[in-house]
Amino acid sequence: MKGLINSIEPFGTVDGPGIRMVLFLTGCPVKCQFCHNPEIAWGGKGQHYSPQQVLDKYNRNKSFYRKGGLTFSGGEPLFQGEFVYQCVQLLKENKVHVTIDTSLYCDEQWMEKLIPDVDLWMVSIKAATAELHQKLTGRDNATIINNISKLNRSRANMLIRHVIIPGYTNTEEELLKLAEILKKLPFTPTLELLPYHTLGLHKWKSMGLTYRLAGVPDANVKDIERAKVILARQGVAFHS
Ligand code: SF4
Repeated sequence: MKGLINSIEPFGTVDGPGIRMVLFLTGCPVKCQFCHNPEIAWGGKGQHYSPQQVLDKYNRNKSFYRKGGLTFSGGEPLFQGEFVYQCVQLLKENKVHVTIDTSLYCDEQWMEKLIPDVDLWMVSIKAATAELHQKLTGRDNATIINNISKLNRSRANMLIRHVIIPGYTNTEEELLKLAEILKKLPFTPTLELLPYHTLGLHKWKSMGLTYRLAGVPDANVKDIERAKVILARQGVAFHS
């Protein structure tokens, strides 16, 4: 089978350890108001690749990936679960370090099938309270929290990522709820806070989409530090 890939970053450094080939898979069932890749999530464009073609492309630059590997990102990679699953089987036969950058808003069968072979799960929680999650993404977060819990119980290597959006995801209520979700997990994962930014705004405009967070400022160092203090007080550990 073939998967639809919007674009490929051959030397990514922010989507998992080391230097990595990053595949941005087309399509996402979530509708985040702050998505900085709307053309990948909802644009529908891309090129079809087979798992062997993905491996061949990886092998061309293999020497650069000695301490890195390959990351599936998007969009939502698990939206094309069968393709990702087939790729991962082939990549692991070739001893490639595999990371999946996901919202976990997905059919849990793909997550379960991938657990034995994925080296790192980078999971983004968009909002901690159900109300804000619905407002920011158009989806409820019960499925996501449930999948995080299942993944965590399987002892998968997991990094939780959370975007700090001033006035939205950095309220005391949100941060305390986030800490509560993480602390309920049997193997408390580390957390990485990412600052909200508006670098993708022009893409929304060029696609004729309404950007509902217009006017919300980018998060600064103080916003991140303040959130860290609140979360650390609750016993949350951070990714270094
Ligand atoms: S889950 Fe990711 S790709 Fe999908 S809409 Fe949200 S930010 Fe964009």
